[in-house]
Formats: sequence, structure tokens, C-alpha cells
Amino acid sequence: MEYRILGKTGLKISRMGFGGIPIQKIDAAGTRALMLKLRDAGVNYIDTARGYTVSESYLGEALEGIRQDFVLATKSMSRDKEGMAKDIDISLKNLRTDYIELYQVHNPTMAQLEQVLAPGGALEALLEAKAAGKIGHIGITAHALDVFEKALELPWVETIMFPYNIVETQGEKLIAKCKDKNIGFIDMKPLAGGAIENATLALRFICANENVTVTIPGMAELHEIDQNIAACADTAPLTNEEKAAVNEVRSQLGTNFCRRCNYCQPCAAGINISGVFLFEGYLSRYGLADWAKGRYATLPVKASACIGCGACESRCPYGLPIRKMLKAAAEKFGE
Ligand code: SF4
Ligand code: SF4
Repeated sequence: MEYRILGKTGLKISRMGFGGIPIQKIDAAGTRALMLKLRDAGVNYIDTARGYTVSESYLGEALEGIRQDFVLATKSMSRDKEGMAKDIDISLKNLRTDYIELYQVHNPTMAQLEQVLAPGGALEALLEAKAAGKIGHIGITAHALDVFEKALELPWVETIMFPYNIVETQGEKLIAKCKDKNIGFIDMKPLAGGAIENATLALRFICANENVTVTIPGMAELHEIDQNIAACADTAPLTNEEKAAVNEVRSQLGTNFCRRCNYCQPCAAGINISGVFLFEGYLSRYGLADWAKGRYATLPVKASACIGCGACESRCPYGLPIRKMLKAAAEKFGE
């Protein structure tokens, strides 16, 4: 296993980490088996979130007695001080620990990031928790390029998490900037939310990029760990055959895959277009129907509100048939 220093945090972590979304569909005992296997393989980076329902508490139970072998990272969608302070305490309790190495602001929009930074915002709680020794370091996660770009300029940001994979390379230039600024880059969605079926190729593509500090494929089955470790261990440049396979994946997914760049906004009906497609991916590809429906329910305007004006499609750089895709999503979610 290759190890890297996670930017300003100074933490030494394995190049492959563990993404804690899929354990929602197993249980604490199954999670324990995964943790033991990861520990034996030298994987020491665990990512979870307050928003991943039972994920933190399954991990807390599964890590009893082996907590010290892992670096724990979690995150909260609270934007104000009170909510963030409360969430940090819940995470500590769920994870059965008195210290979390990395706590992240979970996927804010630009407007929400301003709220986080404002007086009484979530950042105050994070800094206080850090000073009190409850958390070690502070990071941020994003799906939108403008938030990524802004995060690079914030002095308290020690790590940035953003999607990067064969079909989502829009963050590549900013990922390179992370290295220049000594910010740890954590790659999420290495398999594009399950859309890329060839996991080995997907991880080879990511680990061949020097600027990626760690990638966090979600895993819920033991056999996935061996396969993913083998792929991440091979950091040689992609062979010509692999490059051809990458192009093949792009041509298969490229016509109907949302990169969450948000260039299509604003929507005339107020729909969070990329949000709809994100949750639709969880519904269709992650096998997490209840969770995806719960997240979708939080969207103030549903896909069915599309009035078909087409303005978004003229702005989408990938030429996605957004209206058709929203219609399909509305049918799947039933609203
Ligand atoms: S076509 Fe639908 S999704 Fe696109 S801008 Fe118009 S209302 Fe919004
Ligand atoms: S629909 Fe197109 S423009 Fe909108 S977020 Fe997705 S890829 Fe970007």
C-alpha cells in the first residue's frame, strides 16, 4: 500500500481509502468484517458523513478496539454554528471516539458557504472544536467548480474533496492547484456513482494522477477490497490498451452523464438540476432507494416542475438532454 501525506493535515494516509456510503445497506457486523480486512491490508483512511444515516454508528461499532489503526473523516451539512457544534458531538458519539481527525463542511453551495463563513456560521463551531481537541483538521467537500475554486483561497481549508473520475474530469486543473497549495485532495465518486462498471480501470485512471492524494471507493463487500487495492497499487502511466478502454467508457457514458458543473443554471422553474441527477444516480446505481428518496424529498422544487423551456440545455457544455432526463427522474421518484 502506498501512503501519502494529506496536505496541511500532515496525516499519513493510504492512497486508497474507504467510502462509507454503501455500508448503509449492510450492518455493523458486516462493517466490522470490512474494517478488519482493510486494517490487515494497510488501508487507514475512512470517510463517512452525518448525512449517511447509519454509516457513522456502524463504523463506531465496527472500530471497537481497532480505532487507533484508522484516520477518521466525517462531515456535516449544518451551515450554522449551533447545528455544526451539535453535529460534531453526535459524530463523536456515533463513532465512539473522543477525537475525529478530519471534519468537513459537506457540499455547500456558494450561498451556503457564505453562511458557513459568516458570524454565527459553522466555521466558528469547527474552529472551536479544533481548539478543544475534538477534531484535528478541517476540510470541505464540493460538487461545484465555483465552490472548489473558492475553497482553494480559504486559509482554514486543509483538504478538499471533489468528484474526479474517467467521465468527470472538470476539476483536473483545480486538483493540480491543491498540490501547489499543500491542500490534500480527496477524490470522491471514483466510479462516477457506480456508473463506471470497470472498477479496476476507474481506479487505475485516478491513481495514475499524481495530484490525487487519496481516493475513496465505496465498498460493502469483502471481495471489492482486494480488487480495489490491486488497482490503486498500480500507479504506472496508463497503457495504450487502458487509454482505449477509458475512451470507450467515455463514449458509452458521455451522452447522458451529468458532471454537476451547474453551467445549466439558473433553471426557469428553480430546479436543482444536478441535484436531481445526483440523487437519481443513488437510486438507480447504488441500490440505496430509501436514502435517495429521502434526499430527493429535501429538494424544494422537484423534477416534475420542469416547464420544458430548454434554456438549460443550451447552456450544458455536454449537450445533455436535460428535459428528457428530468422526466425520467420524475417518473422514478414519483414527483
Ligand atoms: S427546460 Fe426545465 S429544467 Fe431546463 S431551464 Fe427550463 S424548466 Fe428548468
Ligand atoms: S446538466 Fe449539464 S450543465 Fe447541468 S450540471 Fe449536468 S453536466 Fe453540468
